[in-house]
Amino acid sequence: MYLTKSFIPILKNNPSEAKIKSHQLMLRVGMIKQSSAGIYSWLPLGFKIMKKIEQIVREEQNKIGVQEILMPTIQSSEIWKESGRYDDYGEEMLRIKDRQDREMLYGPTNEELVTDIFRASVKSYKSLPQLLYHIQWKFRDEVRPRFGIMRCREFYMKDAYSFDISDEEAFFSYNKFFLSYLRTFKRLDLTAIPMAADTGPIGGNLSHEFIILADTGESKIYTDKEIFKVNSDDTKVEKKSLEELRTKYENFYAVTDEKFNKKEFEDKVSEKNRLITKGIEVGHIFYFGDKYSKPMGASVDLPGGKKDFVKMGSYGVGVSRLVGAIIEAKYDDKKEVMKWPISIAPYELSIIPMINKNDNSALEKANYIYNELIKNNIETIIDDTDENLSSKIKKMNLIGAPFQIIIGKQAEGDLLEFKETGQESKKLKLEEVIKIIKKEKAKN
Ligand code: ATP
Ligand code: MG
Repeated sequence: MYLTKSFIPILKNNPSEAKIKSHQLMLRVGMIKQSSAGIYSWLPLGFKIMKKIEQIVREEQNKIGVQEILMPTIQSSEIWKESGRYDDYGEEMLRIKDRQDREMLYGPTNEELVTDIFRASVKSYKSLPQLLYHIQWKFRDEVRPRFGIMRCREFYMKDAYSFDISDEEAFFSYNKFFLSYLRTFKRLDLTAIPMAADTGPIGGNLSHEFIILADTGESKIYTDKEIFKVNSDDTKVEKKSLEELRTKYENFYAVTDEKFNKKEFEDKVSEKNRLITKGIEVGHIFYFGDKYSKPMGASVDLPGGKKDFVKMGSYGVGVSRLVGAIIEAKYDDKKEVMKWPISIAPYELSIIPMINKNDNSALEKANYIYNELIKNNIETIIDDTDENLSSKIKKMNLIGAPFQIIIGKQAEGDLLEFKETGQESKKLKLEEVIKIIKKEKAKN
């Protein structure tokens, strides 16, 4: 991509309306544009990143055998009346009337809709478990939308639903998602801690929030530092192995303020291991048994001829919130340097040539390198504007490709000035640069 041809509306300064660094950066480099309170358009740079996050989330769902569907954003109120949540959900639900005066709504979540889909066609225990997911826009009319896309009204979410024959099987499904979330966040280069949580309006009795640490997070968290040492790399998607993994996490104290108990914290965690900080909720999983299947009549035939209501869970990841959460975790706002993890970077490398009016050689060299990188499937952006070198570097530090090639005065022969964004530069040949980037990409 040539910067002059791109749609990346960069601001010279930080927008004053933004209070946290992710919101600042996203407006600054034109990743998003607010259209009304808590509702945003996603511009090319932001959208590219979100799509890459979505793809990683999707791949990790597919790996544990969840099947993708797509449900509409607009739902009928009928199913919500069946489950009893139409009145309970309150003002967060955006209610709409169609031209026939039918009560419709913009889905804040999809338990009812997916239960309706399930009950229409699954009749026997033989078809269980069923694990379904979709990645879709949701709308919640939050009282105080704020922090840009971190707490907005229309947001992009992966939501999955499990249907099982018994509690035991349902816990197995729950634990599959538990592992899948750890793997997903790891690929996004985030350390997410699973914390026992309250179930809120989704209801039920078992629930974990996945929280990443960030000073600007909305959740206050209390945890044992030792929890960071739990490793899930060797966990197999088998009942025993998954149970052991969840137990390993649950043995450490880790809660948000909703569940905090001072005495318990101090009894369980030695003073030196106590960590009290803030975090961002990026995922949330729930087990709620027959809370929806019973009122909505979603039952299956059991082996002995009897029928029973299926046991369900739901599993959300805030795909759009993750864009902001990753910025909160990675952006150095003092130095104004963002370095996206290569797995989701909008560009993998930026070329920054110093362009003189009377001398085309730097731009020619940049073009040559650009074409070589593209041939090697390295996503590259080239700053072909005629600004000075230092303001170009500043801009590219904000856009956040993890690697840079600078073509300035120091360029000599076939050695290039190559940098990991924000670090010192090195002199390398183009072939070496390509090798380094390919190796980084292969890690994912
Ligand atoms: P929160 O506690 O942050 O309000 P929630 O518990 O209501 O979230 P869930 O129903 O668990 O949200 O939704 C799953 C995920 O969707 C959350 O973990 C979060 O990442 C994301 N999410 C929820 N509400 C919003 C929002 N208003 N804006 C952006 N993302 C959101
Ligand atoms: Mg939640």
